[in-house]
Amino acid sequence: MSLLPPQIQKVIEEFSKLPGVGPKSAERLTFHLLRSSKATPESLGSSLLALKRDLKYCRTCQMITLHEECQVCDDRSRDRTTILVVEEPLEVIAFEKSGYKGLYHVLHGVLSPIDGFGPEQLKLKELVERCGSGEMTEVIIATNLDVEGEATATYIKQKIGTQVGKVTRLAHGLPMGADIEFADQITLREALAGRRQA
Ligand SMILES: [Zn+2]
Repeated sequence: MSLLPPQIQKVIEEFSKLPGVGPKSAERLTFHLLRSSKATPESLGSSLLALKRDLKYCRTCQMITLHEECQVCDDRSRDRTTILVVEEPLEVIAFEKSGYKGLYHVLHGVLSPIDGFGPEQLKLKELVERCGSGEMTEVIIATNLDVEGEATATYIKQKIGTQVGKVTRLAHGLPMGADIEFADQITLREALAGRRQA
């Protein structure tokens, strides 16, 4: 029989499920919350609930949004013939700062067989469907320049290469292994400008 009440064990167990949180960190976080004022766990709990309750994926580009369609897809002044494919939502924010004016597609991950991430786990089917509409003239694959990002780019190119006139990849102005989310706006603008045939 454990001396720890099940409520504590449950929280430790839940924290341990999060990426990058080992059992020791999970224990530390749990006891931190236990010792903190009542407001801290309450605020954490309600923020977590709101995350799933209020947010959804844009029906077109899969960006996180409060509505059916995100602000970018809803903005009719944007270039609707170009799609920039990124791994994660935060990369959309980074490219917005670079001055890009086309549309996006968020994959929500990359192909990584070791982590159990195959094509079905990503928003790839949705991308292929968008490209099948015949309205797209260019798809820029802006996955990270690491092994998984390159493998994902190759896979996408195979899937949509015949549907879209031009499939490009970011220029190597970005260093190999670079994390797009943290790249500065000038580097991203140059990587976009120098994109190459995928
Ligand atoms: Zn959208």
